[in-house]
Amino acid sequence: MQINDLVVQHAQQTILDGITLELKPGTVHVLMGSNGSGKSTLAYTIMGHPAYTITGGSLFIGEEDITQLPLHKRAGKGIFLAFQQPLEIPGVRISSFLTAAYQALHGSITAAQMQEKAFFYMDLLEMDRALYYRNMHEGFSGGQRKKLELLQLLLLRPQIAILDEIDSGLDVDALATAARALKHARAENPMLTLLIITHYRHILNDIMPDQVHLMHAGKLIRTGGMELIAAVQEHGFQGLCS
Ligand code: ADP
Ligand code: MG
Repeated sequence: MQINDLVVQHAQQTILDGITLELKPGTVHVLMGSNGSGKSTLAYTIMGHPAYTITGGSLFIGEEDITQLPLHKRAGKGIFLAFQQPLEIPGVRISSFLTAAYQALHGSITAAQMQEKAFFYMDLLEMDRALYYRNMHEGFSGGQRKKLELLQLLLLRPQIAILDEIDSGLDVDALATAARALKHARAENPMLTLLIITHYRHILNDIMPDQVHLMHAGKLIRTGGMELIAAVQEHGFQGLCS
């Protein structure tokens, strides 16, 4: 995916102010930045959330311009977003939701086949299998919500996955499980592109990022490697943005 000089408005304000970023197939990118710098806005914009208006620049997948493509069509192109704050969908069972999402992308599957796949990944994620028959995120703990986002990633097999603070609120064990799940997803699809929005390095235990980007006030102000994460942790964002 190629992001060219992207300018984005949300709630009558310009939030992203010229973002350029190339996400090559199979690469891992980390996006860091202080609260309110625009990380989630970039994630929603790539996914095609209708509340975020692209007023400048473009988004391409290969040769195809997807700047104007609606959300469901972007999902069909293999773009996936794990939400920072996943919402409850009252009355919608996880089993039904996952089956519908899977079928939209990969064609028909029986309930038994779907359950078999789901249980395989739920075991990997150390999720209680009983959750499969619960409603989407209803009454879920923070950690369970994040794992359900990862379950969708593993089952739906996207080409480009954006993970918006997938590690926030996870305990140490869940963090290790999440890191393993990402490693597993990459092993299953070496062409998977990951954009990992995070404040911490622990989620990267099993993954070496190709690039680390620092966002400030709607712009990417630095790109580097792991040393940039160390610099953020040592000096804080303030120290690096001034
Ligand atoms: P981050 O994910 O980096 O913390 P966000 O993308 O969530 O940042 O937010 C970027 C900016 O957009 C912030 O200044 C935030 O206050 C603003 N913003 C987000 N949502 C709204 C909204 N609904 N109304 C007004 N401003 C918003
Ligand atoms: Mg955010």
